[in-house]
Parts: sequence; structure tokens; C-alpha cells
Amino acid sequence: MSHKKAQEAQAGVVPKDAAAVILLRQNTDPQKPEVYWVKRSEKLAFLGGYHAFPGGQIDATDAEVDVRNSPDAITSAMISGAARELFEELGVLAVRGGETLTKGQRASLLDDLESGRMSWPALLQHYELFLDANDFTYVGRWVTPPFNARRFDTWFFLVNCPAKQEPYLTAGELEDGEWITAQEAYEHWRRDQVVAVPPTLHALRTLAGGVTQDLVARFLSLSNAQGEPTRRITFRPNYICFPVRTPTRPPATHTCCYLIHTSQEILVIDPGSPYEDEQQTLAECLDEMIANGRRVREIIITHLHPDHIGGVNALKAHLGGDVPLAAHAHTAEALTDVHVDQLIEDGDVITLEGEPPIRLTALHTPGHARGHLCFHDADRGALLTGDNIVGVGSVLIDPPEGNMRDYLKSLERMRSLPNLSVLFGGHGPAVATPYQKIDEYISHRLEREQNILEAVRNGATDPRQIVAKVYTDVSPKAYSMAERAVLAHLEKLRDDGAVITDDHGLWLPADRA
Ligand SMILES: [Zn+2]
Repeated sequence: MSHKKAQEAQAGVVPKDAAAVILLRQNTDPQKPEVYWVKRSEKLAFLGGYHAFPGGQIDATDAEVDVRNSPDAITSAMISGAARELFEELGVLAVRGGETLTKGQRASLLDDLESGRMSWPALLQHYELFLDANDFTYVGRWVTPPFNARRFDTWFFLVNCPAKQEPYLTAGELEDGEWITAQEAYEHWRRDQVVAVPPTLHALRTLAGGVTQDLVARFLSLSNAQGEPTRRITFRPNYICFPVRTPTRPPATHTCCYLIHTSQEILVIDPGSPYEDEQQTLAECLDEMIANGRRVREIIITHLHPDHIGGVNALKAHLGGDVPLAAHAHTAEALTDVHVDQLIEDGDVITLEGEPPIRLTALHTPGHARGHLCFHDADRGALLTGDNIVGVGSVLIDPPEGNMRDYLKSLERMRSLPNLSVLFGGHGPAVATPYQKIDEYISHRLEREQNILEAVRNGATDPRQIVAKVYTDVSPKAYSMAERAVLAHLEKLRDDGAVITDDHGLWLPADRA
């Protein structure tokens, strides 16, 4: 097992096989090719609200389909899965032998498949349809970077939309879809109007160069298109998410370091890795950006936790020591191994020199940590949320550094910001559904609080007893962590006047004291 594979296996995040289809419009203009892109449903746990191409995980039965002209069994399974996903999500049947099927007949086939009356291989066989590898042009294989608990090893295929078929949204996984020129789609991303992952952007950029002889070669020209996970993830322009491996809380394995940049300046937020190899990779990325005419303006840490500051000293040393470190005063006071050079207060505005203009407003948002800072880019509707909101895992409120009352206030404050369209959290992928996500966080906490109050009213008097009653969805391994969270809730309930502690430190309902 290679070193990398071993690490992945250790983290329990071996990527699952998946396939996606970049559907080209029939007889599209080779100079301005049109593709069918979709907006993923905001309800989806994996990349909800993102713009993408249809696709999904390979089913076990996908491999049972015989694909003509396919070089090997793996390619066959991937093509079969891609064709099935395309059919399931957009009603497009990219098969041979089905040219005479009417729209109604295709819909009835889809119903057979969706209802489980027929498996995909059985359906193809029954209607004498077959797949031909020549209809599926392989244009790369992308692996989700290891910063996400859900990872896919996705094969991408370029497919011409079959004659007389028009894609439509079938079930609940997608909420929008349209034909669009690759140029225009890419422009939407460039103007901060959509959130997308690197393979989507790479496909749009590549197709924007036209359907040329060397199209496939251009698709495959990146190592990332050959299974090497991307390090620089640009969910949005000018905001590079650079996940670094950290000793953080599972299921997270990485902390998102952000490199926010203009043509002239770079802000580095949360270089959190204590590991030399990771520090080195980040340094190389910055060196390249510096070589392109930029300077690192400052390093900022959102809060004091080790998985957010672990690489600060190494990065400072690498940059020659004169790049200042900035943080909130509460963070600066608490740190001993890291020296904070500049303090950031609530309301401070950081304006980067260069193009395009970027202005960030600091928000002091305590709760997860006393000195926690978020950064708001009002022009782009972007909010850097640090560990207040994360793209993977959950947020721990651990007293006394953590304070549930402050945390809820901070969430409300974030919720009140207008026109948010993306959240960049301290772990996991960007969140393309900001208000929905913040609401989820708030209601989840309030629900827990109600349950905890119930438990106290029913006679539970300490966090241990409460956890056993309330955290029935949590593995016993996480109980000690859950007890910390319960304590945070109890302290809030005490401040709210709903519970009290007696002389023995036991928690009791206030109205029965
Ligand atoms: Zn933290």
C-alpha cells in the first residue's frame, strides 16, 4: 500500500467510484459548444446548491452491462453507470437500438428503473438496447480531495445528446438545468454567480476553447484530471481553498487554509498544519503566487485552536519573518507559542490592493472560541466562517472557551448579513446554501436545548445522564465530547433562567428549586 493510500485508508475515506456526463447539445457550434449543466438540489448533503454535471455513484449492477467496443471491464462499468445516471437524472437515454422509442416510452422505461421493477442491465436487455463505448469519450478522472468525509473517484465522459431527445429534470436531486455555452457558464462562475468544483470549471474552461482536434488532450492535460486530487480549490474566483492535513476532530481530517488574492496581494487565513510535508506544499503554492507578482500581505487566524494555527510559525519563517500575523485580542492573549503582531477588532475592514478589489469586514463572532473572527466580503456575498460553520463534521462548543449563548448570537448575526451566496468554513467544502445552513445550525442547537431541558425536568442532574437520554444518535465513543456540549447548553439554560445548580453542582429545573 502506498503511503498516500495508507493515510487515506487510515482516515476511512477511500473514494467511491462515480461517473459523470458532460452532455453536448446535438449539432452544437464547435466554436461555442453548448453543454447541459445542472444546479444540484439545495437539500443534497454532498455539494448541495452547486452547479455541476449530471452523475453519481456507480451501482454494483452497472458492471453487469455489456458495453460494445469497451477496452476493459472497469471502463464498461463506468460507462454503464454514466449512462444510467444520465437517464435517471435527465431522462436522456444514450443507448443504441432505442432510436425509435418515443418520449413516452422512454418515460415508462425510466419508471421501470426508478420503481425497481427492472434493474438497469435487465432493462437494457429486455428492450434490446446496448451501450457503445464510442458514444462516451473519456475526458478524465477526478478524485475528491481528502478534506471531505464523502469522496468520489469520478470518471468524466463527453457525450453527444442523442437526436430527438431533450434533457429534463426527472427526480428530486437537481433543482435546475439548462443548455448553456461553455463560455457563458464559465463567465457565471467568474462573476461570483455560481459555486462549482474544479472538474466542472476545468470542463467549462476547456470546452470554451472550442470542440477542436486536441479537445481530449486539453481535458487530460492536468494531473488533476488523472486522479491526483486538487490542492487549490476555487469554489469561487480569488478565494483559493487549500485544505491542509491537521490533527483535527473526525470526521474532518483537514483544515481549510484560504488564500484570498488580488493581482497584487494575498491574505493567508488559518495555515493550520503542524506537518512539514503539508507546510511545504502550502509554501510552494504561495511561492508560485509570489513569483507571479503578488506579496503576502498578512497571515490571519480565525481562532486559537491548534488545527488552525499549527503552520503559522513555519509559514512566517518561510516568508522571511516580516509578514505580520493578525488575530483578535482574545486569541492573541491566549496563545503562547505563536506571536500575534496585529490585532483585529470587530468592524475592521481589510482592503487588498490590486485587481479585482477585495474588501473584507471582520466580525467578532465568539461562541466556538472567545476570540473567533469571521470575515465578510459584502461585494461577493461570501463569508469566511472559520469553525462557526463547517462543511464537514460538527462544531464543538466546549466551555469555558466555548459559550453556547454567544455561539447562537453569532449564528444569528451571520444569518442577518444580506445577500450571502457562499460560506467558506474551516473544514470541508464551501457551502452554497448559506441561509439554509445557518438555519439548520440554529434549529439543531435549539432542538438539543429543548431536549436537554426536558431531560433535566425528568430528573437527569448531570451531563453524563443527560447525554445518555438525549444523544441517542451519537456513538458512545463521542460521549465525553457530547458531555462538553451538554455543559455548554446547561450554562446557557442557567443564564436564561431555566435551570440552576444546587450546592452539589447538580443541575435542576429552575421552577422546581
Ligand atoms: Zn476550532
